[in-house]
Amino acid sequence: MEDLKINGRLTIEQINSLKEIPIEGINYEQIYIEKEPICPQYIPPDEDLIPSSKRTVVIDPGRICMPFGAMWASVGIHKCIPFVQGAQGCTTYPRYTFSRIFREPVAIATASFHEDAAVFGGRKNLIQGLRNLIYRYRPEVISIITVCSSEIIGDDMEGFLIEAKEELEEEFGPEIHDQVKFVIVHTPSFAGSHVSGYDRAAKAFVQTLAKKRSPNNKVNIIPGMITPGDIREIKHILELMNIDYIMLFDISGTLDCPLRVPQQMPYYPKGGTKVEEIIDMANSVATFALCPDEGGSAAAYLKKRYEVEPVIGPLPLGIHNTDKFVKKLSELTGKPVPEELKDERGILVDAMADTFHYTMGRKVAIVGDPDISAAATRFCCELGMEPVAVMSGTFSKSFAKEVWNACQEYNYNPTIFNGGDMFEWEDYIKKNRVDLILGNSKAVNISKEANVPLVRIGFPVYDRVGYQRRAYVGYRGGEFLLSLIVNTILDAKFPDDRVHQ
Ligand code: SF4
Repeated sequence: MEDLKINGRLTIEQINSLKEIPIEGINYEQIYIEKEPICPQYIPPDEDLIPSSKRTVVIDPGRICMPFGAMWASVGIHKCIPFVQGAQGCTTYPRYTFSRIFREPVAIATASFHEDAAVFGGRKNLIQGLRNLIYRYRPEVISIITVCSSEIIGDDMEGFLIEAKEELEEEFGPEIHDQVKFVIVHTPSFAGSHVSGYDRAAKAFVQTLAKKRSPNNKVNIIPGMITPGDIREIKHILELMNIDYIMLFDISGTLDCPLRVPQQMPYYPKGGTKVEEIIDMANSVATFALCPDEGGSAAAYLKKRYEVEPVIGPLPLGIHNTDKFVKKLSELTGKPVPEELKDERGILVDAMADTFHYTMGRKVAIVGDPDISAAATRFCCELGMEPVAVMSGTFSKSFAKEVWNACQEYNYNPTIFNGGDMFEWEDYIKKNRVDLILGNSKAVNISKEANVPLVRIGFPVYDRVGYQRRAYVGYRGGEFLLSLIVNTILDAKFPDDRVHQ
């Protein structure tokens, strides 16, 4: 055995050529797997270029632009149309992204900037655009979303809106102020990503609309950029616990709608958060921002302005995080945890026990938005898997701490890429042993090139059908995600072994 060791490990060829396997077996750690170049023309990247901290350029970003997050939030409002104060491209690509993920048409209006707006500002475009939008579509809410160009030009959005309202009153009468609400969301894309865009939108909506009235005994939920299926699962937990709630940005009723005919024109999905509910958010018992980076600012604002108790994260994915969510709900509302929910937990624990021998010891790389990545990391630890490379495409104050704390509890020391790019994360995967990737569709090519199976989770997932209808949060969502993970491991590691089928 001694003379066969290479860096303390054996290659696959050397193992195959052994006359007999040692009685104590060969530990996985003793196997040396040489990563093969992807193709003969492959040129390894310059080592100096690999860490994103050493570069001014982002290579293969793990995030998209800030206005997208504000558009996502807006389409979760009933009868709301986002109005994008910028050029058409800033609207076209988000609409395309929505269609790819949700397979639904999404109405987003644009100020359609051309050269004159870029030089003289977008005042005229905004006023005419709002007028056209109201005239044709009669929305109840319009979110006015800025982009790179309008922010760089320095468009005075608040001033423009005052002028626009005066003109609208002349044309539609004073009742227009009750009929349509306007919310301005500043999203200069160079200052953040879709994550901060959603966060800014959440704060802008509650700042503009929430009003103090009498207590309503409800809890506010700001879900973050999770799937319609996830939102339904959160509602399911709240309903089991008999808790009244306000779900801000409820995309479960707007981006995953039944197709029914005939449909009234202009068409609006029947779901989404109503304006009245947002107004009432100032009167709730607590605000649960499930994703700290996507809603945390709104929860903090509601606390500061209206004394509504904030509960900021973690995303209730996996046992520990869902337990925390359920316990906090019970504590703040005085509602007991029902037997049915305890059974759902028990089913997840049972599923984990049933499959521990497949997940135990697997090395996993995780990529996505900060809150989803952090929660998925903890869930992987709960499954006995070792997170080795965890990345958030958007820099986050809480992400690295969350990941590190979870891993330390299980004695793991992952490499953490906070706000890194896919290039450096990919480099890690190609140079180290990784058994599984948990990530979004941006990780597909890396998974194929590195020959590491991928479980899709997070945002965006655009190359699978039905993903958006499934829940990954809560106990039932955890059980679904666990099945995805184990089935992927079975396919990759035991493709021909019928014992495992
Ligand atoms: S990065 Fe800026 S210019 Fe490009 S699409 Fe996003 S908002 Fe528009």
